[in-house]
Amino acid sequence: MPNPKSLSAADLEFLYSVVGRDRISTGTSELDLHSHDESGHPSHRPHAVVWPHSTEEISKIVAYANEYEIPITPYAAGTSLEGNPIPVQGGIVLDMRKMDQILDIRPEDLQVTVQPGLDFKKLNDRLKKHGLFFPPDPGATATIGGMVANNAKGIRAIKYGSTGDQVLSLEVVLPDGRIIRCGTRAMRSSSGYDLVKLFVGSEGTLGVITEVTLRLTGLPREFMAAVACFDSVAHATHSVVQMVQAGLAPAALEFIDTDIIRLVNHFKQMKMHEAPTLFIECQGSSRVALEDEIRFVKELCDGNGCKTFAAGVGREERDRLWEARYSVHESIRCAYPGRRGYVVDVAVPISAYPEIVRFADEAITSRKLVGPAFGHAGEGNLHAEILFAPNDPAQQALAKEANHAIVHQALALGGTATGEHGVGIGKREFMPKEHGASLELMKQIKKLIDPHGIMNPGKKV
Ligand SMILES: Cc1cc2nc3c(=O)[nH]c(=O)nc-3n(C[C@H](O)[C@H](O)[C@H](O)COP(=O)(O)OP(=O)(O)OC[C@H]3O[C@@H](n4cnc5c(N)ncnc54)[C@H](O)[C@@H]3O)c2cc1C
Repeated sequence: MPNPKSLSAADLEFLYSVVGRDRISTGTSELDLHSHDESGHPSHRPHAVVWPHSTEEISKIVAYANEYEIPITPYAAGTSLEGNPIPVQGGIVLDMRKMDQILDIRPEDLQVTVQPGLDFKKLNDRLKKHGLFFPPDPGATATIGGMVANNAKGIRAIKYGSTGDQVLSLEVVLPDGRIIRCGTRAMRSSSGYDLVKLFVGSEGTLGVITEVTLRLTGLPREFMAAVACFDSVAHATHSVVQMVQAGLAPAALEFIDTDIIRLVNHFKQMKMHEAPTLFIECQGSSRVALEDEIRFVKELCDGNGCKTFAAGVGREERDRLWEARYSVHESIRCAYPGRRGYVVDVAVPISAYPEIVRFADEAITSRKLVGPAFGHAGEGNLHAEILFAPNDPAQQALAKEANHAIVHQALALGGTATGEHGVGIGKREFMPKEHGASLELMKQIKKLIDPHGIMNPGKKV
């Protein structure tokens, strides 16, 4: 894929002819805004930013880019954590956020059809009056398109599944400009190859998603939450394994290490017990059933020497108990301003969770690094931000080494380099080891759909 120095006057004239002059920018401030995501990966400017309004506009632009081999990178809210939407080869960024309409709500089928630039929180606000919601919640203000393209998960995936699990059908503009639909509105189908699953998690490397039909879930009537503190990480993580193995289905089951509790206490002026902690949430239609479930959770935690166990009923109690969990990212940023970090996102089979958490802690502390750890424990997903000072190459090399060691250990335990953030730039180097010969097939699929490699080049495979 050529790395163009700039777009020609003819390229710009073509773009003006499709979307007019108001929805294109080559100004440095817009190029800078679209040069990075929320990760520490180096930023890279595109040559132009375009805000399309329709599938047809996207089709014309992509077909032109394909003919003249100009890179195209879809960009949504830019909250990715692996450099996924950074236009590393310049070219045209398609900012999808003006395509943010809810096209059709069908409460009777528990379905909604939306444009991809819609913020998922706004969707949930609109769905409330129908008693419905779209469960995935990545914790950032992300769009439906960005969530589908990264197959985002977040805290509720343990009960409701990933973003991909909610997608019934998609409209996609292929790199040659063709517009296709895959999937149907039926709740199940065994028809054809599952192209919906192929585009879910494709990180903008196979085409531009222009419409999404999602399945919805009834809003739960009752909430219960608990926060359990332990005297050791091993006791906390063994409790997680036991809860999952016992067949409990909490709506969220999260782990936070002592360092983060300390940072959150400081940042939010809280007084939480500074110890390895589990955050648990149960949702359902019967308070009695939830009380039973929390009682069982407490028994399991007590069996592992739980030091404190605070439980509460109702949405407000749940929000109070969970306040610390929602402050993790800000607390880390506030405590270490200016630091960059390698973001660990490994996931392993649940029985290996205590081992990967122990291994990660040792990999970080033995190199005298700071790497606060937390994770969607109920699904075997561990995050850590292994921090380094940008002006300290030796520390950066050590942080990179620790990150490598943790990913390789996760793979050795039967896990994956990325549980939810996607491959982007940061996890590409692990793909040969994780996928072996299947990586070649993935590359052939990419070549078949995008022979000129224009779609989000430099990512994924
Ligand atoms: C504080 C914080 C917490 C987070 N926690 C979680 C978490 O718990 N779980 C989790 O899964 N993620 C988490 N994330 C990561 C992030 O929010 C998700 O990956 C989210 O899905 C990104 O959506 P976005 O709208 O920001 O997309 P962007 O970051 O703009 O883009 C994401 C990818 O999708 C592609 N893309 C965007 N729109 C389209 C489209 N229409 N068609 C084709 N490709 C497209 C882009 O090219 C890019 O590759 C977190 C991020 C932050 C900042």
